[in-house]
Amino acid sequence: MIAFDWLQRARAEGFAIGAFNVGNLETFKAIVQAAANKKSPIIIESSPGETHWMGASNIADIGKNFSKEYGIPIIVNLDHSETPEDCMAAIEAGYGLVHFDGSKFSYEENVKIAKQVVEAAHSKGIIVEGEIDRIVGAGSEVHKEMYTVEQIRSGYTDPKKARKFIEETGVDVFAAFFGNIHGTVPPGGQPPLDIALLQKVKEIAGTFLSLHGGSGIDESDIKLAIEMGGINKVNVNTDLRVAFRASLEKTLKDNPDTVALYKIFPPVIKSVQQVVERWIDICGSANKV
Ligand SMILES: [Zn+2]
Repeated sequence: MIAFDWLQRARAEGFAIGAFNVGNLETFKAIVQAAANKKSPIIIESSPGETHWMGASNIADIGKNFSKEYGIPIIVNLDHSETPEDCMAAIEAGYGLVHFDGSKFSYEENVKIAKQVVEAAHSKGIIVEGEIDRIVGAGSEVHKEMYTVEQIRSGYTDPKKARKFIEETGVDVFAAFFGNIHGTVPPGGQPPLDIALLQKVKEIAGTFLSLHGGSGIDESDIKLAIEMGGINKVNVNTDLRVAFRASLEKTLKDNPDTVALYKIFPPVIKSVQQVVERWIDICGSANKV
């Protein structure tokens, strides 16, 4: 129950745990080195695409190996799974947390599947994240288009509906939407977070709360969401991907003749690590280990 225990501690002490996506071993290394450097607990997560790319068992096992090697708690999370089969595979593989995203289903179907996932996960001491609202932003990418205020508001969490969903499914973590969107948008496109709405969700949810789409949101807004809105888990993906790609392009350009991969990746890892360390500071989880 490492995931539950750490989220419990985050809630008691008013900090959040950063949840960072991995798409390869180098990103994994960057996140873990940042966590070790900052003495912070960490959530490593994989989206369905990233999970199929790397393999659920590989991700779970690398998490265990790095946790032992670096002496930091690593919670491995399945991010935005849309099928019960993927959730079950992650539970089998040894993930500590699974996020079932049933927001594309009808409310009734979402509840039905989430309940099954919760039952299977809880029997193995694994906790579950759920959501009912469709987050705006198709994927953790650098979006070139702006969303209208109406589009963004259309995905906002209804606190009463959230409470009902949590009661009916027994999920442990609830993904709230209050101005957060996936990926980044052009300057001026990210609205301020609706902290008052988040506080209403916090008052009646009774679960841990997550903030998706951390990239691109003002640092002070994230801190407010943690300190006043009770956010315990902050998901960040795009910032890492952008740093990885930019650094890789520069490294290849600077070293046109290098073919040894272990010589190419260290500066790339370093730049992703710096991004993660910044997020650990924002989450307030440094020196908690
Ligand atoms: Zn998300």
